[in-house]
Amino acid sequence: MGEHETEKIIEVCSNCFSPRISPYMGYETGKRFICQDCKHISVVTIEFPSIEALVSFLKDKRDSEN
Ligand SMILES: [Zn+2]
Repeated sequence: MGEHETEKIIEVCSNCFSPRISPYMGYETGKRFICQDCKHISVVTIEFPSIEALVSFLKDKRDSEN
């Protein structure tokens, strides 16, 4: 759980890829996250090594959808 100043992992919603996720308290299932944008609750997040990697991924995703 240590933080690195030079390598900041970006965690995003596994449903809409928004970085606006918050910890969500479950009862007995452990750690979960809720997305502030789509309200999706998930156990896993998708991690990117940097904000640039996320932006690049979203661009590719958008291109492939159009
Ligand atoms: Zn989301």
